[in-house]
Amino acid sequence: MANGVHFRTTRAEINRAALTHNAKIMQSLSAPAHLLGVVKADAYGHGMLVAARAIDEYVDAFAVAFIDEALLLREAGFIKPIVLLEGCFSAAELPICAHYNLQPVVHEQSQLDAIATAKLVRPLSVWLKVDTGMHRLGWDPERVVAVYAELSACPQVTSITLMSHFANSGEDEHPVTQLQRQRFAAACAQTKVLHQSLGNSAALTSSLKDYEQLSGHWLRAGVTLYGVNPDMQKQVHAELRPVMRLVAPVIALRHIAEGERVGYGSGWIAERPSLIATLAIGYADGYPRHCKSGTPVLIHGQKAPIAGTVSMDMITVDVTDIEGIQVGDEAELWGPHLSVHEIAEHAGTIGYELLTRVSARVPRVEV
Ligand SMILES: *Cc1c(COP(=O)(O)O)cnc(C)c1O
Repeated sequence: MANGVHFRTTRAEINRAALTHNAKIMQSLSAPAHLLGVVKADAYGHGMLVAARAIDEYVDAFAVAFIDEALLLREAGFIKPIVLLEGCFSAAELPICAHYNLQPVVHEQSQLDAIATAKLVRPLSVWLKVDTGMHRLGWDPERVVAVYAELSACPQVTSITLMSHFANSGEDEHPVTQLQRQRFAAACAQTKVLHQSLGNSAALTSSLKDYEQLSGHWLRAGVTLYGVNPDMQKQVHAELRPVMRLVAPVIALRHIAEGERVGYGSGWIAERPSLIATLAIGYADGYPRHCKSGTPVLIHGQKAPIAGTVSMDMITVDVTDIEGIQVGDEAELWGPHLSVHEIAEHAGTIGYELLTRVSARVPRVEV
């Protein structure tokens, strides 16, 4: 990593053309609604500035979790509005929001009080969050009309977008989804709000019905921008292209006899004479230690199973059935040819977590 030079070839390739392609698709799926490009958590591990550059033209605004992430975008010269999905943590952030056109979510009484008493150079656009049933952030639906009225009367506020978030996005038939829809529709009707935002990626890709219902407002696309299906049960939206390809080289190969054991804990036992490849990637790179023996990696276009526990810097793979493998060959851990969801299932998690946890020591390489 010294001077930006990497000798280890382990890397996360970031396909910029795929990002742009996905952003175009999400833009056309969401039109005529506005599109919010969600680039929080370093653009789901892809690199926030790289991602923002690739999608800037196709989104109407960016969204991040909190102000520090937004300021990185402003410092890099991005000028579109930025929504802070958790809002402000303290009143000290409000003048900065006003100065940089950051649009905080207001989900809590202390945030409302801070805005009501703030002295700002210019008024804020804010997003008022309703808790329609996820019970994580947002106002109780019974309080929304009063809070909306209070914000509307604030000279510090110039526009209000009403928003909520699905607990079971993409599951149209789920009873909680239906309840959330009803409550959100009621809040929009009672406040007569002009701008509203309900769906994230899954709502966008799940059904035409959603798309019609949500048109004319703001859709929030995160994971689909990175080419990943939000819903593990369903097919990837046909046209999306995975953006990240996680790659690691084979750094050692050895033949072992039947009955020999591999790795920490000696948990994997060779049932036949076997060829074991050691790859330079481990849990310190964000490859999950929860991936047990049998989790596939892709080498020479073929799946080969992990053999033995994931180490900090390495994994061992049974490549007995792969022809012609050599030290220096590269494996795909996930990417266009091996779905991150498949690996996530082996790790007992979701693709979102794997992508966001690729660690800082893995260089992001634009391709
Ligand atoms: C992260 C986030 C999103 C994006 O969700 P995806 O499933 O990645 O599209 C949308 N809305 C809110 C409130 C979020 O926190």
